Amino acid sequence: MEIPNLTPALLADGERLHVVASFSIVGDVVQQVGGDRIDLTVIIGAGQDGHTYEATPADIAALEGADVIFVNGLDFEEGLVAALDAIHGTPIVPVSAGVSIREGEEAGHADEADTSVDNETHTEDPHVWQDPRNVTIWADNIAAALSALDPANAEAYQANAEAYQAELARLDASIEETLASIPEARRKLVTTHDTFGYFADRYGFEVIGAVIPSVTTGSEPTAGELAALVETLRAEQVQAIFAENVSSAGILDVLAAETGTQVTVYSLYTDALSEPGNEADSYVRMMTINAGVIAAALGAGQ
Ligand SMILES: [Zn+2]
Repeated sequence: MEIPNLTPALLADGERLHVVASFSIVGDVVQQVGGDRIDLTVIIGAGQDGHTYEATPADIAALEGADVIFVNGLDFEEGLVAALDAIHGTPIVPVSAGVSIREGEEAGHADEADTSVDNETHTEDPHVWQDPRNVTIWADNIAAALSALDPANAEAYQANAEAYQAELARLDASIEETLASIPEARRKLVTTHDTFGYFADRYGFEVIGAVIPSVTTGSEPTAGELAALVETLRAEQVQAIFAENVSSAGILDVLAAETGTQVTVYSLYTDALSEPGNEADSYVRMMTINAGVIAAALGAGQ
């Protein structure tokens, strides 16, 4: 995953860079850095699942007219990959270049004996944004790319990135503070898919299970996997599990009912922001809300 060599875009007097971001969270960070100097189009919008998204003809038109396309990389936007392959001449910048990548669960891992399942392997966990320090790296990469493409505005991009990075540092500290009330024994996360690895590593949690035991959402759990997860929930005395805004909570309700004890299903923003004007319409707000929900669910006194 490398950032390509970038040369200045040919812009008419007063023309702004045409920038595409693959999904809502990258889009927010690109907008923070680009400010009013860029025209931004976001392909995979609020509440949409980047793992399973398929590009439309309108997306292809936007991609073809762009000066640069920012993606998360690490195979997060699987459905866009084919479309991106067909775009010639537009640089594609993976904002996660330089982030240290954690290993993720492989789909089919829990059922190795069954060779009939499609054992897609995704060993690199793409959900790097769940640690704000990684988004600081995104801001550096975005500022460097925009500056190379549009040197006349390089100072503005750099200043915007630095202001945003200060905000990210405050976010990181405030998340730690929010989570501080959660006792060690309750620092266990169960989610729909394996999206909280970076968050767990950063803030001292353990991901003890996911309904879809994979870093993608494009598969269904087997009956055996669900039964094993119910056992884990009972053994670990889990009382809170977390649904995600990019997937239906139905299966978690089933899981909670099967576990039998008083398991409550909470909701988190994981792989997408909410619609503009709603509570989690920026990365900083999304992370702040998630920390508050997790603290309310797992904190002392619950
Ligand atoms: Zn995901």
